[in-house]
Amino acid sequence: MTTKRFAIAICIAIVAVGAWLLWPAPSPKPFNVLLITMDTTRADHLGCYGNEIISTPHIDALAKQGTLYQNAFTPVPITLPSHTSMMSGTYPVFHGVRENAGFYVPDEMDMLAEILDDNGYDTAAFVGAFPLDSQTGIDQGFDLYDDNYASRFDRHPKLQRFYDERPAADVARGAMAWIDDRDQAPFFLWTHFFDPHHPLLPPPRYRDQYPTDPYLAEIASVDEAIGQILARLEARGMLDSTLVILTADHGEGRGEHGEETHALLLYSSTLRVPLIVNDPRHRQPGNEPRVVNAPVSNLDIFSTVLDRLNMPIPDVNQGTPLPDSDRYADPEREILSETMFGRLIYGWSPLHRLTAGTEVHIRGPSQRLFDRANDPGELTDLSSTHAHKLNRISEQLSNARGAFAEGGHEFASAPVTPETIARLAALGYIGVSTAPAELSDEVDPTRADPLAMMKVFDYQQEAQSLAEEGQLELAIPLLRKAEKIDPQNPAVLLTLAQSLLSRADQKAAFDVLIQLLKAQPENVRAHLLLAQYHRSREEYEQAMELMRNAVELDSEDLATRLMLAHLEEDAARPDLAETTYRDLIERDPTHVLALNGLATLKYRSGASEEAVGLLNDTLNRQPYYAPAYLNLGVIHFDQGQYDRALRLARRALAVAPGYRNARELERRSMAALTRATADSD
Ligand SMILES: [Zn+2]
Repeated sequence: MTTKRFAIAICIAIVAVGAWLLWPAPSPKPFNVLLITMDTTRADHLGCYGNEIISTPHIDALAKQGTLYQNAFTPVPITLPSHTSMMSGTYPVFHGVRENAGFYVPDEMDMLAEILDDNGYDTAAFVGAFPLDSQTGIDQGFDLYDDNYASRFDRHPKLQRFYDERPAADVARGAMAWIDDRDQAPFFLWTHFFDPHHPLLPPPRYRDQYPTDPYLAEIASVDEAIGQILARLEARGMLDSTLVILTADHGEGRGEHGEETHALLLYSSTLRVPLIVNDPRHRQPGNEPRVVNAPVSNLDIFSTVLDRLNMPIPDVNQGTPLPDSDRYADPEREILSETMFGRLIYGWSPLHRLTAGTEVHIRGPSQRLFDRANDPGELTDLSSTHAHKLNRISEQLSNARGAFAEGGHEFASAPVTPETIARLAALGYIGVSTAPAELSDEVDPTRADPLAMMKVFDYQQEAQSLAEEGQLELAIPLLRKAEKIDPQNPAVLLTLAQSLLSRADQKAAFDVLIQLLKAQPENVRAHLLLAQYHRSREEYEQAMELMRNAVELDSEDLATRLMLAHLEEDAARPDLAETTYRDLIERDPTHVLALNGLATLKYRSGASEEAVGLLNDTLNRQPYYAPAYLNLGVIHFDQGQYDRALRLARRALAVAPGYRNARELERRSMAALTRATADSD
């Protein structure tokens, strides 16, 4: 430890002396950091940003005594790349994480949690959904990284297979339990709320409050969860020594510019995010937030935290500590943004954008120029009437990209796995279909312009959600229409194959997949779907062979192996499944799904003691993983230890109150205990 701790102690002592000179009551308490990220949240849908329909009292209160940034833009409207920018202070063109599926945060990057951890901080993250799973490497530096999404498992049929999202209340519950365990050391806590992202499934109370707009209902439910966390910090006397920063990873189109969701285009509807800094040492005395109008970015959070904690900011940082007022801000600040979503998923051109002061330039196969001062909706394209301006800002954009790319990580790609793709698909994403290593991130005029391809995008997206709802008869004609406009589009063909498989139109699906694999032999999702085809015909050998090929294509990513293990279990090959599980655990001893899977396998084969050992191991690594409590409880129940089973069922419910199987175990254990008491009387 001690050199670093000692260095910190000295650092704090110096700060304290400084503080003593300036303020009468220096705080001897450690300085904590709470970072709140709301997924998919538009700034203009919060009360403190002027929205008059929604009620967000807790976020508004944070803003009132803090600083609110009116013009904060994300470098990229996609969850994992955006969070990587916030946590590393660098642009995607530098850190190399360009999409959710298929990308990995480079190990050699110094992430905010790593720096704070090295400086004696306790670090924990509670994330709400799969795009931020620990397997992406965004967990670097966190002592505890809670990415278990089990609690929606039983509630919503749509999510049942993948249980990829957990509601705000559950994220808050985990965070509050962790806060309760804090003692002396300062902490860095990150909570991520996925609720405003599709699918929109607000809690009934909020659904009733906003009956026509589930998006607002989800945001309001997150506000309540934030209020609970802040109240817990207050109750523990920690709020006055905690720097709170709230932001979003990106906004949501909500129909603007023809875009319903986010990721494909680069308008402010999806790039502008809320950003609030609440530093208790600089509390705003009045009842109105300090407002900064100059452009800033959520990637500035990295340097802001280090700056406020008086820690050195690494040279790689590409952001600026957030100014407390416009007096110290750069009104001409340039913010770079990009999306490679269209390139990676649909084979279209990448898009780039520069926000420079109030000017906006979007570069694709066609050009756009907007003046946000007079046209905040970015509706009037000035590119043909203001050629001189366009040339200047276009050059600025190129220069910025060149400068920020220097010394960066090319493509931080990890192989994409079928399970990753399937889980992301459950959230409305579809996976990467081309090996990222072969891609260029430059605008490519020979490829389709995403702005001109909105029809194909809409057909494919609409078909995908129809398919998820089982309306295949409506989905398939839409996909055939999209195929007509863009016949080689891998996303269209994959969704088509998936829909045909679901309709048990096996022959047609088989033809589409073989056609796709001929063009793209390394398309992992085509492997997965073809394996599903064979699985449905109980041709397990062929299915396992395809998955083994997929594992070979994806040697680094463990989720492929997990999928293979599940298939081996289906094929009644527990011996193979055990080998695959053990291989997984050897590669990642903290892989709770593999530990839990192996435990279940061992228990079924009669090795209950080993199963108990594995489950305890799981819980040591992830004390908030409800299925492990449940499985332990089931084993004790089977052994007639009903009181222990009851306790474990309640532990599972404490973590995941909606967990139906745990509720059932609780009921059965209580019934068994009642019977046992009656028998002994
Ligand atoms: Zn997101």
